[in-house]
Amino acid sequence: MGYQYDDQNIFAKILRGEIPSEPLLETEHALAFEDIRPQAPTHVLVIPKGPYVCYDHFAQEATDAEIVDFTRAVGEVCRRLGLERSGWRLIANAGADAVQEVPHMHVHILAGRPLGRMLE
Ligand code: C5P
Repeated sequence: MGYQYDDQNIFAKILRGEIPSEPLLETEHALAFEDIRPQAPTHVLVIPKGPYVCYDHFAQEATDAEIVDFTRAVGEVCRRLGLERSGWRLIANAGADAVQEVPHMHVHILAGRPLGRMLE
């Protein structure tokens, strides 16, 4: 499947500095910041800096360096916030059925309360 990246999405604007953000972590290829509508006491988004629509697009087209940097950035956020103490959840929404709102690849880190069982 060919993905078309729309560079007018809100995270692209954050990456270009057109919309202010307060990064929790910035690496060469990734940015982490708090979600504006937190669903848990800790709700952080981690995005790659490259123009990828979703996880699959990122996995297919990002360089190994981007993928390693992004993956480590997720771990680094969790470590900095001390999330290993009580646990955390990582979510990536893709496409319509998952109700992906922002068409720039991102993962959600949720923590700080019991998150319940997602899958039975
Ligand atoms: O995975 P999904 O695309 O549904 O999630 C997008 C997330 O981006 C939402 O949780 C929303 O609150 C967040 N968001 C944000 N800052 C914006 C626009 C959306 O943190 N300016």
